[in-house]
Amino acid sequence: MKIYNTLTRRKEEFVPLEPGKVKMYVCGPTVYNFIHIGNARPMIVFDTVRRYFEYKGYQVDYVSNFTDVDDKIIKKAIEEGVDADTISKRYIAECKKDMEGMNVLPATRHPLATEEICGMLEMIQTLIDKGHAYVAEDGTVYFRVKSFKDYGKLSHKNLEDLQSGFREIKVTGEEGKEDPNDFVLWKPKKEGEPFWESPWCNGRPGWHIECSVMAKKYLGDQIDIHAGGEDLIFPHHENEIAQSESANEKPFATYWMHNAFLNIDNRKMSKSLGNFFTVREISEKYDLQVLRFFMLSAHYRSPLNFSAELMEASKNGLERILTAAQRLRELEKKTAGEALSKEETELAQQLQALTEKYEGAMDDDFNTADAISALFEIVKLANSTALESSSHGYVKLLMDRVEELCQVLGILTERKEQVLDEEIEKMIQERQAARKAKNFALADEIRNKLLEMGIVLEDTREGVKWKRA
Ligand code: AMP
Ligand code: ZN
Repeated sequence: MKIYNTLTRRKEEFVPLEPGKVKMYVCGPTVYNFIHIGNARPMIVFDTVRRYFEYKGYQVDYVSNFTDVDDKIIKKAIEEGVDADTISKRYIAECKKDMEGMNVLPATRHPLATEEICGMLEMIQTLIDKGHAYVAEDGTVYFRVKSFKDYGKLSHKNLEDLQSGFREIKVTGEEGKEDPNDFVLWKPKKEGEPFWESPWCNGRPGWHIECSVMAKKYLGDQIDIHAGGEDLIFPHHENEIAQSESANEKPFATYWMHNAFLNIDNRKMSKSLGNFFTVREISEKYDLQVLRFFMLSAHYRSPLNFSAELMEASKNGLERILTAAQRLRELEKKTAGEALSKEETELAQQLQALTEKYEGAMDDDFNTADAISALFEIVKLANSTALESSSHGYVKLLMDRVEELCQVLGILTERKEQVLDEEIEKMIQERQAARKAKNFALADEIRNKLLEMGIVLEDTREGVKWKRA
């Protein structure tokens, strides 16, 4: 298997640290709102990477954090008049619902920054003891970038260039820095913010330290793959390398993988630009499998532009696969005889060749776009050669293969019943009509039916409101 490594800017053969095992860390979202579909791209992409490793027989240890202490979370908490914990807990729960909808497998572990403060204090102390970090007068702890000779190796920036870029910029509040490139490991609390005690000041961690600490705690000093969106290369991942390699004195991750952006009108989709759709919004119009299929229709290192047309095309493509799978499932019940005929044996060889094409694409830096093309060829083969007169053995072979290859992409071949807004509205109107006609039994029946579909009704003064449970 070949993986493009941001560190070396080359595709490299995958060699695990421990045979048969993959240790993988993926930077997770900051939880202050519903995730948008840009955030969903790394989730889907790296979940597919994980699934393919598992298909190849590896045991994957997959760790992905939630950043649950951060300026944006605190800001949102102040706006709502609740504490930061309430905000982060709420959006972690919502994020997990979205992940389930997109068939993203739960990580082996989902650590939270606020539960790992102890480990952060320890690593910061180690960095201070080794001369890689220092405490400023106000208690802020900075990483001393100059002490780490490999700084810039991931982002391919050199320290001198960074230096001259910073020369003119003086940031208030950072007067205690020895060097403009130094970054925060720990900072003093501000009024009304959550804080923890530390030997340096009551405060909270900088953003980068949590990932170094969680990767070490749950996967060890050295890991196989570290991943995230390409905006994380600098400074986040560069800083993680500086922290981990200075503290542990070992190379941190062997392979660094980064997905390209999900764009809209050729600009990065982001919360700050306001040009985003949340996963939840998309789920009101589409089964989230369609979103997943759309994401995988491009190679993860290519920018992907979101559009209604491409979503429709993905919906149709997925539909073709699900229809073929359903037909095979029905044929499986109708056919008999395990032995393949001579002609079927030849077709089975074609199926094998197409499977190898699929695997070849995935082996080449997880080219899901080409893998999906191979899958479509298999679907075509199934549609034209699996018949009522086929042997059960041949139909089953096709069915199992389609199922298995879909599973790698995280696509379930059994259709989920997608309840659309219009259907719900129609049922609500029927219930209103029943109530008007004093047919309360029918009204209750409709309400219960909606409940079974996961729709909760609320009778308010402004009329009936509904939400998905
Ligand atoms: P954040 O919550 O901003 O830290 O982002 C969580 C993850 O989503 C990171 O891996 C980001 O790189 C990734 N991400 C954010 N926006 C996009 C986007 N428009 N396209 C692809 N990945 C993104
Ligand atoms: Zn991270």
